[in-house]
Amino acid sequence: MLNARKKIIVIALGGNALIQMGEAGSIAEQFANTRKSIEGIVHCIKSGYDVVITHGNGPQVGDLLLMVELSQGKAQELPLGVCVADTEGAIGYMIQQTLVNRLQKERIRKCVVTILTQVIVDKDDPAFKNPTKPIGSFYNEIEARKLMDEKGWAMVEDSRRGYRRVVASPKPIEIVENESVKRLMEAGEVVIAAGGGGIPVIVEKDGSLEGVDVVIDKDYASCVLALDVKADYLMMLTGVDKAYIDYAKPNQTPLGAITVKEAERYLAEGHFPEGSMGPKIQAAVNFIKGGGKCAYITGIDKVEETLAGKSGTKIVP
Ligand code: ADP
Ligand code: MG
Repeated sequence: MLNARKKIIVIALGGNALIQMGEAGSIAEQFANTRKSIEGIVHCIKSGYDVVITHGNGPQVGDLLLMVELSQGKAQELPLGVCVADTEGAIGYMIQQTLVNRLQKERIRKCVVTILTQVIVDKDDPAFKNPTKPIGSFYNEIEARKLMDEKGWAMVEDSRRGYRRVVASPKPIEIVENESVKRLMEAGEVVIAAGGGGIPVIVEKDGSLEGVDVVIDKDYASCVLALDVKADYLMMLTGVDKAYIDYAKPNQTPLGAITVKEAERYLAEGHFPEGSMGPKIQAAVNFIKGGGKCAYITGIDKVEETLAGKSGTKIVP
């Protein structure tokens, strides 16, 4: 059993935690950003929380897909599911090493461990028939037609930047390795799991798992993981300190504490786009409805202030 008195927090690191806007995203830059981004996590650990970390992988998986493409005919092709696994491992390593080094300075003896996490999706999820999530490079029209023909990719035109591959993004149902995550937490370790939304798998008729070349939204996967480990709090760290209604309009209004009902109303009114803030608000709603105490959306450098009620958007029952 997880220690009932301890507070459990799942912290989801957004894309800007490892690669800042305008950067190429070299490994040196990613390590430097990670060092800054873990300060909030260190604060939680020092304050006595049991911490589980999740993270995105958009730019990293985009780079890897480009490498696969450029090495065609020379190196073996890697399917998308394996690319997700590769980036989950590499990003996990960066966070793991950075956090262990930082905890050592605090004289906190804790193991930090990354779990390559498989996440079950429903093979009948309607998302499979309607790929919407753009990934990887941009192409011109001729290249795009060739890729659609030769590889069967679905592609969409981005008004200014060209064509881009889109893949399905089905909803996560279950974290395959959730018992392992719980056991490591019970042992007092800091766990990094469901990185990049996890490696998508479906369950075959005989119960066996099979990888699928789709991607899972990291905010939804973080919510499923948070409910599995019976987390008290789900905190999504991103590029803004709060969620807004009328975002980027002259009358934009930041949200402080809102109820699930208010969050659902704003979602229905279209304040939170599908590709960015929408999944965070929906994940927060799902988390609270599933029994979580409180979900936060805040900036990467605002963890302490947010827990003290001085920043961030808070979604409560
Ligand atoms: P992450 O990598 O952290 O998931 P996303 O880009 O997917 O980041 O989502 C966060 C971004 O959503 C913010 O940086 C902001 O630019 C954008 N955004 C869109 N709508 C809103 C909104 N209503 N309130 C706040 N931010 C919003
Ligand atoms: Mg996002």
